[in-house]
Amino acid sequence: MENNIIFGPINSRRFGMSLGIDLSPSSKQCNFDCLYCELAPMATVSQQSQTIEVKKIINELKTHLNDKIDVITLTANGEPTLYPHLNELIDAIDKIKNKTDTLILTNSANLVDENVFNTLLKLDQVKLSLDAVSNDVFKKIDRPHSNIDINDVIKQVIEFSNIYNGKLFIEILFVHGLNDTKEEIEKLNNVLKRVDSTRVDLGTIDRPPAYPVVGISYKELYEASLMFDNSLPIHIASRVHAEPNNAHYSDDEIINTLDKRPLTMDDINLLFNDESKKRLEMLLNASKVIKKLVGNLEFLVPHNNLKRKRIK
Ligand code: SF4
Repeated sequence: MENNIIFGPINSRRFGMSLGIDLSPSSKQCNFDCLYCELAPMATVSQQSQTIEVKKIINELKTHLNDKIDVITLTANGEPTLYPHLNELIDAIDKIKNKTDTLILTNSANLVDENVFNTLLKLDQVKLSLDAVSNDVFKKIDRPHSNIDINDVIKQVIEFSNIYNGKLFIEILFVHGLNDTKEEIEKLNNVLKRVDSTRVDLGTIDRPPAYPVVGISYKELYEASLMFDNSLPIHIASRVHAEPNNAHYSDDEIINTLDKRPLTMDDINLLFNDESKKRLEMLLNASKVIKKLVGNLEFLVPHNNLKRKRIK
């Protein structure tokens, strides 16, 4: 049952070369039953009934760990913070990881548990999902366990971000017709302005979902990204169904666009036509646009923008 604890390494755009640890390898154990989950639908749980020993994880990890790994990623078929020995596990990983970072991918709900909150503070990187902030939208998309209240979760996400010293990533996954409305994005924006994050990744459904829901297009993601405050480190993380936009931008339009929303080269390749890409190249050569590393990703920003934007 415990054969698939370690997986990868996989080269992730967002986090680098990642070696995964699956804290629920035998079955899905989650406190959410998200519409978009890539695992099969399953009744929610508030704790794991099948657990693996820390010793077993560490022994397996030792045989796979090498200096090419950027990040050891704690994840699960389900929610990794339900693993009851998480604190002990992180302490044990810290003893053998050398310079490799530790990362957890969590749905945020267990931040209301003081032990989990304090345990996550020990990690080098944390990715918190926050798909919705309205109770009804949250319940429709993430279908949480009955004891979970989104307002408590939001409070803890804000509090965590203010205390945490590592790299904090927030992820919003958009589902068509649910959390992609102007009203919900405005509410998400208001919450995110209070969260001190390294980067906010906007994504959508890229893999077959548990329930019959659909994602939004790259263009819709881009439009959603413009609705967020331009002081937020927003990144469009999903481009599976992206169609080239081939739009023309003058020098001023390039500067204004990047001032409003810094973009990666992958975004530029989708949004700009060839002539605009050449203009951008010239602006880069003249240092009017420069490259800025956020987490593992390189963004293009106007030179002046760096002076007034917070960089964590
Ligand atoms: S939190 Fe993750 S594992 Fe759990 S149901 Fe949602 S997508 Fe699936």
